[in-house]
Amino acid sequence: MRVAVLSDIHGNLPALDAVLDALAPFDEVWVLGDIVGYGPQPNEVVARLRQLPTTGVRGNHDAAAIGALSTEAFNDDARTAVEWAASVLTPEVMRWLTDLPERATVGDFTLVHGSPRDPTWEYLFSAALARANLPAFTTPHCLVGHTHVPLVFRNDAAGMQLLVPDPGIPLETDERRLILNPGSVGQPRDGDPRACGMLLDTTQGTATWQRVPYPIAEVQARMRSVALPTRLVERLAHGL
Ligand code: ZN
Repeated sequence: MRVAVLSDIHGNLPALDAVLDALAPFDEVWVLGDIVGYGPQPNEVVARLRQLPTTGVRGNHDAAAIGALSTEAFNDDARTAVEWAASVLTPEVMRWLTDLPERATVGDFTLVHGSPRDPTWEYLFSAALARANLPAFTTPHCLVGHTHVPLVFRNDAAGMQLLVPDPGIPLETDERRLILNPGSVGQPRDGDPRACGMLLDTTQGTATWQRVPYPIAEVQARMRSVALPTRLVERLAHGL
């Protein structure tokens, strides 16, 4: 089975469409949360996902947009953007987001937004944090988002390794436990502004990341037209 693994789409429809095109053909879509927030087209992004065989979990921005999480811990720009999203979400999209669980299990994989022990808030940036999370999931592997940075944590005999995936080069999945981050579709933060996604081939046992250009200026214009914060508009061009 081929699975498009996506995270942190953040209401960015052109980035989503570019990544879906690049990863096709696939049998399923697994989404790791933060579907809305920051970007200008939250309803359209959810509509696209609903046209596909999507399994998803919710992120902190999704939870805030549906009123299930306080925005107290958000910075000013993130709060402004999530409040805007909440104000434009249709009742149908609101219901779809509300039905997303915090954690899902599909085959050999646990899906969460932040980390298996704290799906809402924990950022998995280091091998030490990844190792501390191994007891928090029972499947061989785990998929996380939230940091907006594509990363591989692999539990070797030597300990937990942190690897930065090369786009287009398949990583072999074997008996070693993995925590994989597909990167962010709609707001990359690793210095590369191109949209990011990952294709999991469960038959071949590979995970392959892709970086995909998309019309950033078009999204920025749309953000300005609905008065989303300037800093959020500008950061799309820098990928930071
Ligand atoms: Zn996010």
